[in-house]
Amino acid sequence: MSGPRVSDFAHAFAVRLMQHLVVPTFVLNSDRKVIIWNKACERLTGVPAERVLGTSDHWHAFYEEPRYCLADLLALGKTEALDTLYVAHSEPGDSVHGMKAENWCVMPQVKKRLYLAIDAGPIFDEDGNLLAVVETLRDNTEQKLAQMALQSLAVKDGLTNLANRRSFDEKLEAEWLHSQREGVPLALLLIDVDHFKLYNDTYGHQKGDACLKAVAGALDEQVFRPADLAARYGGEEFGVIMPGTDLDGAMHVAERVREAVFNLALPHGASQTSDRVTLSVGAAAIIPSAEHTSAQLVEVADGALYRAKHAGRNRCLGVTMGSSLGATL
Ligand code: GH3
Ligand code: MG
Ligand code: MG
Repeated sequence: MSGPRVSDFAHAFAVRLMQHLVVPTFVLNSDRKVIIWNKACERLTGVPAERVLGTSDHWHAFYEEPRYCLADLLALGKTEALDTLYVAHSEPGDSVHGMKAENWCVMPQVKKRLYLAIDAGPIFDEDGNLLAVVETLRDNTEQKLAQMALQSLAVKDGLTNLANRRSFDEKLEAEWLHSQREGVPLALLLIDVDHFKLYNDTYGHQKGDACLKAVAGALDEQVFRPADLAARYGGEEFGVIMPGTDLDGAMHVAERVREAVFNLALPHGASQTSDRVTLSVGAAAIIPSAEHTSAQLVEVADGALYRAKHAGRNRCLGVTMGSSLGATL
């Protein structure tokens, strides 16, 4: 008589334990029907247990479109779908011991985007048959946002939100090697705001900062090929890296950028060049080879910029860099 009572008690205790576990947890049976949806899971998702128990509608709690959750993939052995369904995940080979994955979930009921860290573990009977899959969830949104902010700090310029100098240097080196392997051209623009010291002196440093932001915004709009990179090179200087682009192409972009900033019509009363903020641009292009370095490409673009300044500013000047430093546009 005492046997069933102990087992009843154990069962009731196990269910209660699951229900009140502080970790959001749900359990699917081998047919992928929800058999447990605990209180912490209700709180996290805003979906009451009675809405999902006995159904396979658990995806509703996390996503707007029907799709598999991690527990479904484990139950179905569909680990090959991990890559397309999750931002990050553990090695699929670990599926017997469970899997980990991370994802942005839209959480339609609570109407909050959350970054969830998800664990799914299988439960087998004595014969090794799958009985159920337990999925536990952890809200990692704050940590993820902090990590993204840190990553962004490392690669972005704080004032203009363009790529920073470090990203520029890394990209230039990577594209130099890539273009050399492929035998394709690589182009570079160095862009400098004309008479910017006078701008600061006239309007103050804060207006100067606002001006740099506006120039960066206009520059970013004109650099739209996915492979291109617009960066703040330093101070009031910007750089653009354009893989697979020759000098003609680079001069097109340079002229477009110069014109876009001219058309912003930011007043610059002290400029000796114009009534508004203007740019000078130096462009250089090369088919990279072992004879040259990316630093030389920067030097050549810088030389072209220097000459654009001396030729009267508010203009673009370009050089194709070859074995004898090629033609000048
Ligand atoms: P040029 O036409 O020959 O380029 O003249 P310029 O006055 O622009 O050249 P110069 O290099 O002498 O001056 C650059 C100025 O840019 C000096 C510096 O105070 C200002 N500057 C550099 N970085 C910043 C910044 O982040 N904010 C502001 N407001 N000014 C900056
Ligand atoms: Mg300068
Ligand atoms: Mg300047």
